Amino acid sequence: GADPRWSAVDQYLTETLVGEDAALAEGKRAAHAAGLPAIEVSAPQGKLLMLIARLTGARRVLEIGTLGGYSTTWLARGIPDGGEVVTCEYEPRHAEVARENLARAGVGDRVSIRVGAALETLPRLAAEKSGPFDLVFIDADKENNRNYIEWALRLARPGTVIVVDNVVRGGSVLEADLPAGDPQAAAIAGIRDGLALLGSDDRLDATALQTVGAKGWGGFAFAVVR
Ligand code: SAM
Repeated sequence: GADPRWSAVDQYLTETLVGEDAALAEGKRAAHAAGLPAIEVSAPQGKLLMLIARLTGARRVLEIGTLGGYSTTWLARGIPDGGEVVTCEYEPRHAEVARENLARAGVGDRVSIRVGAALETLPRLAAEKSGPFDLVFIDADKENNRNYIEWALRLARPGTVIVVDNVVRGGSVLEADLPAGDPQAAAIAGIRDGLALLGSDDRLDATALQTVGAKGWGGFAFAVVR
């Protein structure tokens, strides 16, 4: 089970070095008050996304799974003026809350929210020649992780970085043989399918790291497009 120190250490790290400002904290509060689920990345993870954007020199970022725009805000803060984050969200209500939060954080002008099922909006981005994206963050319905990675590849260039959230799920990623009726079965199968693609596709070099923290025992996968 979760060790209470994981959360306490996350809080300490957030206070000591992350610098989650009022706009981010208020955006999170507003999203929870609006009834959105509290499943955004933690503050240290959000800052990591910002730093990845910065260290890759990303100007164009693609996010799949906006929720209330918390991770979106961090990503938008990691790109230079003139850059853009395109973020895909299925729920119109989530997109509406995100729009308010992004405006409050002062990054609304550099974020474009595409509302609809990502498997419908991603082909549109390709048709619009919206790519290539320098960084892709995948954090939506896990059932589609493989499809999202394939779309990321279509919208990528050599050197594009792909980050996939929630690939460990408290260790349940090991449960390959859940009965089809299990409520977690489809998500776990999707996570495993996505990881299998990251590990086997010749166009990708990948790794993953396990994490503990305020969100329990989780993990991120990272890949670079060759
Ligand atoms: N990245 C966000 C953050 O850290 O602040 C959290 C995203 S939350 C884990 C997942 C989001 O994906 C939800 O808002 C959900 O509505 C959205 N989603 C689920 N299925 C989707 C789909 N098929 N297409 C696009 N978005 C989807």
